[in-house]
Amino acid sequence: MSFKNFKVVPKLIFGRGSFSQLDEVLAEERKSENDFVVYVVDKVHQGKELENRIPKKEQDLTLWVYVDEEEPTTKQVDELTNQVKAHSNNNPVSVVGIGGGSAMDLAKAVSLMLTNPGGSAKYQGWDLIQNPAVHHIGIPTVSGTGAEASRTAVLCGPERKLGLNSDYTVFDQIIMDPELIASVPTDQWFYTGMDCYIHCIESLEGTYLNEFSKAYGEKSLELCRQVFLEDHPEKDDKLMMASFMGGMSIAYSQVGACHAVSYGLGYVLGYHHGIGNCIAFDVLDEFYPEGVKEFRQMLKKHNVTLPKNICKDLPDETIQKMVKVAKSMGPLWHNVYGDGWEEKVTDEMLTELYRRI
Ligand code: NAD
Ligand code: ZN
Repeated sequence: MSFKNFKVVPKLIFGRGSFSQLDEVLAEERKSENDFVVYVVDKVHQGKELENRIPKKEQDLTLWVYVDEEEPTTKQVDELTNQVKAHSNNNPVSVVGIGGGSAMDLAKAVSLMLTNPGGSAKYQGWDLIQNPAVHHIGIPTVSGTGAEASRTAVLCGPERKLGLNSDYTVFDQIIMDPELIASVPTDQWFYTGMDCYIHCIESLEGTYLNEFSKAYGEKSLELCRQVFLEDHPEKDDKLMMASFMGGMSIAYSQVGACHAVSYGLGYVLGYHHGIGNCIAFDVLDEFYPEGVKEFRQMLKKHNVTLPKNICKDLPDETIQKMVKVAKSMGPLWHNVYGDGWEEKVTDEMLTELYRRI
C-alpha cells in the first residue's frame, strides 16, 4: 500500500483586513527594480474598492478575467500566459490570483505554464508538470471550492475537463481575508458555499475516510452549519475557514457521487461547479440521506430555488453523454462504494438519476 504524500500550502495569512499585507508579502519576492508581479483578478472587482487596494507597481501587469460565461479553459490559460510573455522577456516574481475558484485556478495554471513549454492541455492529468511554477499566491473572494488548499487547477480542455494536478500547482502563499467575501450575492454565496458542504458530506460518507480527512471534514461541516443554518455573526470568517478545511479533507480522501453527477451536468450542459453540485445533490437522497435533508433546510432558509426538470425531456443521447462523463469518474465511485464499484455504477442507475434532475 502506498500513502499519499500530500503537499500543503506552506504559508498562509488569515484575518480581517489581511489583504493589506499583500504588498509586504510581495516585497519579499521583488529583488530588483524591474521585478514585476502579475495579478490575475476576477473582473467583478474592476472599478471597485478592491482594485485600488491592489499594490500594483508601474512594471506590474493586471489581467482581468471574466469567469461568468464558462469555467476556465486551457485556451484562456494559454492566452493569459502569452500576455505575460508579451509584457516581458523575464518571468514575473509572483502570480497573484484574486477571486473565486475560477480566478485562483487561472492564476495557478498561468504560473505553471510560464515554466512548462507547450500548451496547458498537454498537462491535464496527474503529475505531468515537469518544472516548478513561478511563485503564486491565492486570495479567495468567494469561499467554498477549497481551491486555495488544493493541488489542482481545473480546466476545460479540447477533450475534457480535467485539472493540472501536481505538487507544483499548490499555492506558495494564500491570504484569507474574510472581508473580501462580504460582497458576494446570496445565490452565488450559497452555491459556492454548498460546494464546501458537499465536499464534507462526500468525504465523511466515503470509503476513503481516514482520521486526517475526518478531522478537517467534521470541523468544516460544523462551520458550514453555523454559517448556513445559524446565520452566525462571524459567518464570513467561518465560511472561509470551512472552505479551506473542506479542501484539506477531500485532498486526503476524495469527493463522491454528487461531484461525479455534477461533472456530467457541467460538461454537457455547461452548469458551473457550485450550482451543478446543488442541482445534483438534490436528487441524491439514497446516497446521502441526512446530508440532502439538511441541504434542503439550508436552501429553504436562504430562499434559494434550484432549476428543475432540466434533464427530464432531453434527448437520450444527451443523457448518455452525461452518463458517460459521470461513469468515467472512477476514484469518486470507488470512494462511494469501495471495491466492486464497477458493478454498481450502471448506465441504468445514472440515467435514472439524470432523468430526475
Ligand atoms: P467563481 O470563481 O466561478 O465565481 C463565481 C461568481 O462569483 C463569478 O460571477 C464571480 O465574478 C463572482 N465573485 C467572486 N468574488 C466575488 C465578490 N467578492 N463579490 C461579488 N462577486 C464575486 O466561483 P467558485 O465557485 O469559487 O469557483 C468555481 C470554479 O472553481 C470552477 O471552475 C471549478 O471547476 C473550480 N474548482 C476548483 C477546485 C480546485 O481545487 N482547484 C475545486 C472546486 C472547484
Ligand atoms: Zn467541489
